[in-house]
Amino acid sequence: MEYISTRNNSDHFSFKNVFLKGLADDGGLFVPKSIKPFSKEDLIKLSSLKYNELAAEIIFPFIGNFMTKKELSSLISKSYSHFRCEDVVKISDLGKFKILELFHGPTLAFKDIAMQLIGNFYQYHLESAEKKINIIVATSGDTGAAAIDALKGKSNLNVFVLHPHNKISPVQRRLMTIHEEKNVFNIAIEGNFDDCQNLVKSMFNDQNFSNKINMSGVNSINWSRIIAQAVYYFYAYFKIGNGQPLSFSVPTGNFGDIYAGYLAKKLGLPIDKLIVATNKNDILHRAISGGDYTQKKVEETNTPSMDIQIASNFERLLYDVKDCNSEFTKDVMSKIKNNEYKIDNNDLEKIKRNFISEMLDENETVEMIKDIHEKYQIVVDPHTAIGIGAAKKLELEKNCVVLSTAHPCKFPKAIEDAISKTEKLPESLRYVYDREEKFDVLSNDLEKVKNYVINSI
Ligand SMILES: *Cc1c(COP(=O)(O)O)cnc(C)c1O
Repeated sequence: MEYISTRNNSDHFSFKNVFLKGLADDGGLFVPKSIKPFSKEDLIKLSSLKYNELAAEIIFPFIGNFMTKKELSSLISKSYSHFRCEDVVKISDLGKFKILELFHGPTLAFKDIAMQLIGNFYQYHLESAEKKINIIVATSGDTGAAAIDALKGKSNLNVFVLHPHNKISPVQRRLMTIHEEKNVFNIAIEGNFDDCQNLVKSMFNDQNFSNKINMSGVNSINWSRIIAQAVYYFYAYFKIGNGQPLSFSVPTGNFGDIYAGYLAKKLGLPIDKLIVATNKNDILHRAISGGDYTQKKVEETNTPSMDIQIASNFERLLYDVKDCNSEFTKDVMSKIKNNEYKIDNNDLEKIKRNFISEMLDENETVEMIKDIHEKYQIVVDPHTAIGIGAAKKLELEKNCVVLSTAHPCKFPKAIEDAISKTEKLPESLRYVYDREEKFDVLSNDLEKVKNYVINSI
């Protein structure tokens, strides 16, 4: 499969390029040049597979000659061998809803599912590479832990994670900072998540610096994360679809997870609506409900993993909506940068064929957790609660799967506000409270961070 950039579709890239670079040099995102959907017969064959087998069938067409299917299958098994449930993900009932539990990996959020695989992709690639890679990633909490767990101790690479100092939950922080492996570096930035993200972007854009350290990235625009996430949409459909199209409600920040659902739909999976569920940082809800894509200031909420105003992966959808015209996409992206973009009616119609959106504020989120606990004696994390609440507001409970993106113990404050008790860590992770933490605090200063990286490698 060949890839192009959303901002210049005349140059072609291999999966290996796409995987290692993350972002195209022109600032665009990589997407496949074309996508061939599975036939009805293919889907029937896929429907009886176990999770790992299904993952191999779905991912393989996207990776070209990066590795053989046999090698891919073995990396998939290795990646998911230490998940806490046998089939990687789990489906449970909650009233009329089905809940797709994606948090049974090592760091208790859905990001493990893609990241564990990426970690093994790096290892596979670096066995034959000559130069050490330095991966730098910004996190609002969950990405960093997932990345560190997937990359710690791997040879020929270092991982640097920038998190906003004192702005993530202690569990989130501990899952990152208790590791002793020498290739793990935690940096607490005196600033917010946007500052961390901007520091990483500036380092990427400084070609001198990024070439010098052989920099690579694993944030949610990396295409390999999208393909790994598309798998669980198929899995859920085959388990519970019964031949009826399903809708999926997805707590959304960077538009990565829900875009994976869109990819599944493009691959032929019978998906009805993809519900974009946001917190009060609701740029995507404003965009999809009324075309308004103006950026506002990011506000901190009790769903920190969705406190985002630049939904990077949205560019991939816009490229599609613009009929794969990279000049149009480039033009739109420069308008967005100047905060002067409004989605025109024609484009909005196209988006609404697949997407619908809703928003919950912090109180509604807490109320939702409380309500669910009272009715079903189940504790859901606040992000999941937004997914459930959005589908409820839209009255789309029928044939609807809500993606449960994190374990409730990661967000003790919101849970306590709702039900006046906290949720315990799974037994296998209690050790995170006993170990010593290791991280350095740096001011929000690009040169300081660059020096830190250079002096560490
Ligand atoms: C990252 C994250 C999200 C948002 O996912 P996107 O792919 O950025 O839309 C939602 N919930 C949790 C718990 C997360 O960690």
